[in-house]
Amino acid sequence: MQIKRLRLSGFKSFVDAADLRIEPGLTGIVGPNGCGKSNLLEALRWTMGETSAKSMRGAGMDDVIFAGTGTRPARDFAEVSMLIEAAGQESEIVRRIERGAGSAYRIDGRDVRAKDVALLFADSATGAHSPALVSQGRIGAIISAKPAERRAMLEEAAGIAGLHVRRRDAEQKLRATEVNLTRLDELIADQD
Ligand code: ATP
Repeated sequence: MQIKRLRLSGFKSFVDAADLRIEPGLTGIVGPNGCGKSNLLEALRWTMGETSAKSMRGAGMDDVIFAGTGTRPARDFAEVSMLIEAAGQESEIVRRIERGAGSAYRIDGRDVRAKDVALLFADSATGAHSPALVSQGRIGAIISAKPAERRAMLEEAAGIAGLHVRRRDAEQKLRATEVNLTRLDELIADQD
């Protein structure tokens, strides 16, 4: 999967709409301290479905919305759009958050659930917690991880994390069907 473009509006320090094309090859982000380099990586992770406000360096998820400065008022929403190409096909993923109203996701203009976005990225062996996004302290975390955690990282890197989610869903459906069958047997027995 290749990320081809990132568009931000009202996300953290990116109050004005910003449009970044990401060319093939290695991309570096340079700039003075506090100019928003980490905010850009957080925008990527956020659009991929990050749910932890703490890992976005905030107290609540609304903290990703531009909070205002001495000269500019705060915004009511933040939106990040990511254009990706996977298996020769382009898709646009959009996440939007409105102050006090939570997040909404779209894939190619269709409203989708957070889970659909998570599955899309899990199948592409990436996502908000992907080992491909190496943040400060991550190497140390991998070294000191418990075996089960390290296995989860390897499974994510191998692109099979999505299968676990689908297996959990299938098991839940199976359990619900078993309950229905038992109930049906009881009803049939009552009629005899
Ligand atoms: P460094 O090189 O020091 O690690 P950086 O380039 O990674 O810095 P970031 O940490 O991405 O910079 O950006 C920090 C800036 O983003 C700070 O000036 C902070 O005030 C601003 N910022 C973060 N959240 C918001 C927000 N919700 N509204 C407005 N500005 C914000």
